[in-house]
Amino acid sequence: MNKVELAKIKEKALQDHIPIIMDETLETIRKELETFTPNRILEIGTAVGYSAICFSEFLSEGGKIDTIERDEERVKEAKENIKKAKVENKINILQGDAVEILPTLNEKYDMIFIDASKGKYPFFLKESMRMLSPNGIIFADNVLYKGYVLSDYNKHKQRTAVRNLREFLKELNELQESKKYEVKVLEVGDGLAIAKMLN
Ligand code: SAH
Ligand code: MG
Repeated sequence: MNKVELAKIKEKALQDHIPIIMDETLETIRKELETFTPNRILEIGTAVGYSAICFSEFLSEGGKIDTIERDEERVKEAKENIKKAKVENKINILQGDAVEILPTLNEKYDMIFIDASKGKYPFFLKESMRMLSPNGIIFADNVLYKGYVLSDYNKHKQRTAVRNLREFLKELNELQESKKYEVKVLEVGDGLAIAKMLN
């Protein structure tokens, strides 16, 4: 991977106000993967490809990433960025709405990164669990949404997103209680949830 290009891609994305993964979130994921090297990664929410390019470093030999994005312009830019970073052999973009694409996928993934419309997180979780390989790991970004999710915030046009994120956290809690997953919700970045499948 070309690090100089990656730095340029990051800078442009920040200038364009694209909500790319925060440094501390990426570092937390890197640490979680110290003892686990994924071969297949699924990402929901490509934007301009920044996080996917970063994750390509975490793949085992011959590993691949599938990443979903519905915005045509962003798909175009992501493809250019992936080429510039020299990782086009590792990243496959699926263009369209993840709500429609996910049910058509039937692969197993070792790592799944949820980073798209917050109102759909409960659905994304359900689909992710269906496709997670044994001992796989799910990361979900922005789960605390600027603190709204855990406050008594109930107003505003984002209330559907907040309600669905609360539902998502409730489902994670049930997963933790089922003892089939080890679940953590960390206050890094905008809130990072981690659900690791246990055997
Ligand atoms: N993962 C990226 C940032 C993603 S931002 C990074 O860290 O670099 C979230 C992206 O998800 C946006 O580009 C948005 O267009 C896309 N998105 C939101 N809802 C979606 C959906 N239902 N299906 C596909 N893409 C979606
Ligand atoms: Mg995010």
